[in-house]
Amino acid sequence: MSGADRPGEFDQIARLFRPLTRGAPEALNLLDDAAVIPSRPGFDLVVTKDAMVEGVHFLPDEDLGVVARRLLRVNLSDLAAKGAEPYGYFLAIAWTPRCGWPEREAFARGLAADGAAFGLTLLGGDTVSTPGPLTVSATLLGWVPQGAAVLRSGARAGDLLLVSGPIGQGALGLLAAEGRLPDPNGSLVRHFRLPEPRLDLRDALRRHASACADVSDGLIADAGHLARASNLAVEIDLARIPLSDAARAWLAAQAGQADALRYLASGGDDYQLVIAAAPDAAASLGVPVIGRFMPGEGISVTLGGIPVDPGPGGWRHP
Ligand code: ADP
Ligand code: MG
Repeated sequence: MSGADRPGEFDQIARLFRPLTRGAPEALNLLDDAAVIPSRPGFDLVVTKDAMVEGVHFLPDEDLGVVARRLLRVNLSDLAAKGAEPYGYFLAIAWTPRCGWPEREAFARGLAADGAAFGLTLLGGDTVSTPGPLTVSATLLGWVPQGAAVLRSGARAGDLLLVSGPIGQGALGLLAAEGRLPDPNGSLVRHFRLPEPRLDLRDALRRHASACADVSDGLIADAGHLARASNLAVEIDLARIPLSDAARAWLAAQAGQADALRYLASGGDDYQLVIAAAPDAAASLGVPVIGRFMPGEGISVTLGGIPVDPGPGGWRHP
């Protein structure tokens, strides 16, 4: 599409992005060189950034409204893992030739929908063009009461390992989105395109968790991240991981149950939370226990107590 078919750069920012500031004075109407954020006494600012590339993190020709919402959601998952309340974001976008004015408007509508749904205000950004691939990145800001952020490094020996919900939705969602797996009710593709960040657990995490990470690399790997950051060993029982009906149906059709479960636990993009909590605090979180932390290092994976190779998603003592 030629530049003549769409507004000039200044107008594009005004029309696409200014409404997304939702009147926040910090954004200075996207007319200044930068945003100016006053400090908030008694709170810490939690900051996270994720980038997504067409053909790598989302399917080629994905609807740009979905790309926008997925971008916010994968970043929101990081805020959720820290117990933070969403506040604002900065956006970088490299438009490609397929991004005409209607596509840009669809992208902005996606940002508007999830910005409003999750309480996020656009504070600034940068806009460039590229022959491809389409690349988008967001830096999200969230608030936590001073000192209350839930870190990866807070687990203690004797803590239980918990997970907030179904594992494997990311791995199976990708297969379904690529048309390689049936998805009768559409739940797998929906998860792949629009994951649900677990912001609902914020208060419980701050109160009861000793450590937390979101499951973006895979359950085994991300549980391992908690263990390593906390200088502990972790044990995971694959027989205890929660599964969706779709994952259960897929699992029932697989020959090797240990391999299949390890596949689900290594796939990533689940956007659930892995949590460490002391045994007396774990019940208050109301999510399944799938393992425990011990003195030492490394990851051990079992299936109902029988050792299983953790696979490449796992890190083992050399
Ligand atoms: P500069 O050239 O001074 O870096 P720009 O022309 O890139 O400024 O941006 C002007 C204003 O528009 C800034 O406030 C910037 O934050 C905002 N802006 C530009 N692109 C975006 C975007 N994709 N999303 C949100 N704000 C943007
Ligand atoms: Mg400037």
